[in-house]
Amino acid sequence: MKEKIYTIPLSDAFAEGGECPFCTLEKKLETEQVSYALGASMMEPDSRIVSNEKGYCRRHFEQMSREGKALSLGLVLDTHLNVLIQSLEAAKEMPKTKGGLFKKSSDSDPLTEALEKNQNSCVICDKLNHTLEKFAEVFWYLYKNEPDFKEKVLACQGFCLPHFKLLLECADHELSGKNLEEAKAEVIELELTHLKRINDEVNWFTKKFDYRNQNEPWGNSKDAPQRAMEKLSKFL
Ligand SMILES: [Zn+2]
Ligand SMILES: [Zn+2]
Repeated sequence: MKEKIYTIPLSDAFAEGGECPFCTLEKKLETEQVSYALGASMMEPDSRIVSNEKGYCRRHFEQMSREGKALSLGLVLDTHLNVLIQSLEAAKEMPKTKGGLFKKSSDSDPLTEALEKNQNSCVICDKLNHTLEKFAEVFWYLYKNEPDFKEKVLACQGFCLPHFKLLLECADHELSGKNLEEAKAEVIELELTHLKRINDEVNWFTKKFDYRNQNEPWGNSKDAPQRAMEKLSKFL
């Protein structure tokens, strides 16, 4: 049952606190995936095929280069470049299809399309997106069926905006009717409460620069800009 595999890491992430439990989760998964990319993945032919075809984004290449596995990284790059060059050479030979009246001509250039496909693909990003969607499904399953979990959620500090959006979209196909309306309303309320809370913390942060407030306590505001950025975008 999928719930079992996902429940523990999800509950652990909520127990950890912070501005977004899904970011906590994603960070852990990302670390695992980066080391997998230069470890076990290299021994698995199917993973190698995916790695050769998709490649990695800049963020994940940089994380891979910090792993200290120079030879593994070299091998990943070598075979990926090989497959990429083959696909670009094939695309170069393909005839351009004429775009329609309202279509930009670059839309139908096979070489541009091949380059775009390469730029938008990353083994690790794809894996993270896929796994986070599964976690979002389990989130709503538990929210509906486990009162303890729901209590934990409503006591958390909300979510970053991208993960909040993911949850709302997922709710639409995981819940229905009155359950859906109520659950969404509760989580939207939670999010707005914490957006206002972080706004207040950032506001006090700026006021602390006024000499009249210099002896006032910081409260929670010292790291408020950092946490506000975490709230507004996925972890950096
Ligand atoms: Zn997040
Ligand atoms: Zn990536």
